[in-house]
Amino acid sequence: MKWELYSKNIIKPLLAARAPHLNARHYDAAASVFPFRNNPYVVNKLINWSDVPNDPIFRLTFPNPNMLKPEQLASMMSAIDTTEMATEDISERMKRNYIVESGKLIREGLNPHPAGQKEENVPKPEGRDVLGCQHKYSQTVLFFPAEGQFCHAYCTYCFRWAQFTDVGSKQQFKGKVPQLLMEYVAQHPQVRDVLFTGGDPMVMKTEMIRAYVNPLLNNPATSHLDTIRIGTKSLAYWPYRFTTDKDATATLNYFEEIVKSGKQVAIQAHFTHPRELGTLEVQEAMRLIRMTGANIRTQSPLIRGINDSAEVWTEMWNKQTKLGAFPYYMFIERDTGAHDYFSVPLPRAYDIFTDAQAAASGLARTARGPSMSAGPGKIAIEGISEIPAEDGKGMQKVFNLKFLQARNPAWTKVPFYAKFDPEATWLSDLKPAFGGDKFFFEKEYEEHIKSDSSGSSGQMDFSKPPSCG
Ligand code: SF4
Repeated sequence: MKWELYSKNIIKPLLAARAPHLNARHYDAAASVFPFRNNPYVVNKLINWSDVPNDPIFRLTFPNPNMLKPEQLASMMSAIDTTEMATEDISERMKRNYIVESGKLIREGLNPHPAGQKEENVPKPEGRDVLGCQHKYSQTVLFFPAEGQFCHAYCTYCFRWAQFTDVGSKQQFKGKVPQLLMEYVAQHPQVRDVLFTGGDPMVMKTEMIRAYVNPLLNNPATSHLDTIRIGTKSLAYWPYRFTTDKDATATLNYFEEIVKSGKQVAIQAHFTHPRELGTLEVQEAMRLIRMTGANIRTQSPLIRGINDSAEVWTEMWNKQTKLGAFPYYMFIERDTGAHDYFSVPLPRAYDIFTDAQAAASGLARTARGPSMSAGPGKIAIEGISEIPAEDGKGMQKVFNLKFLQARNPAWTKVPFYAKFDPEATWLSDLKPAFGGDKFFFEKEYEEHIKSDSSGSSGQMDFSKPPSCG
């Protein structure tokens, strides 16, 4: 299939042709607030148009008008109406700007940069940012290559959505100096893997990937590095990247070269729905990647209206395992963008996760979660317990929580508990169980945020772990 970029302009004609029962102007308004990008593979091979608008892949890639509050949708429609009724002496550019500015106003109220990524994760050796790097967890450095800050299609729930719009573009995390990354890794012997992320690094040509990765290979200064990780949704959105694209063979050869150099290649593939694993194209792409010696781990958030059932996850994990991939994470949707539209209450998320694992084959039960990637770390709901109430009358429920990853590695040793709340959808909704108004890690985390000299948590020396009491 030949690559073609479908931008926002395609929405009205496409819906008129394939889903005339929908209000295309409302979809156009939603795509004026949330980023939209698509391609012929997703539109023609993954979406089941007879089930639109409920089809999961349609919901995954076409911003839905209901992602906006009624007053936000009304405000966007009013902006669009105004430009459509404008007299001819107003240029097309001015009309476009008017719509863009109206969308921007709404975006700014949607928590575009959750979990303090820019402020808290960017390392600052000698007080200067390492551009494009984040180092939150001791062993893993994230790198955002400048050329990889977009994707083959955009997910409506994307937690980095702001990066693809004007509210985020100014603050986009990106770096374009491989030497800086290499030097940073060389200076931090605790780092075992570098995760190239975005956007999607697989939108880059092989030569560009090579430019970033090569300085980390066959280099005595980075010999402590075990794994090159690549976070990508290209297998789901454009598997031709590994099969028939001009650059496909060069990419596969390069993966093999990395493996031969002694580093592991871990593809962290983002799959949201089992349908994305059903085409011959994706299956062939996964086979070819595995033949290089690279391995594939899979992850996705749990999203209302797209994959919020245990059956969907069981099917997805079983299919991934059959195709030689390892289920890795189920995430809770982050507190950004249209979070209210997509979020699943934590008790339901826990049920979906446990029911899905119970029905999956033993080999497919490798995913961790459901996990919240929050400011302090990745916090999983490990259970919901019913225990005697503190006043001795009856029973009470509590969430059992645990860090899977934490800014301070010592926090991962400490199980902790939150009062049960059937409506909670994020960490900020939770209160400690058994008294106290803060969780055990909050004081230390607040101190870290306030300290402007320390840089990112991944840089810190926790060899003498502070008290977790
Ligand atoms: S693939 Fe990842 S970065 Fe790209 S739009 Fe989807 S969630 Fe966002």
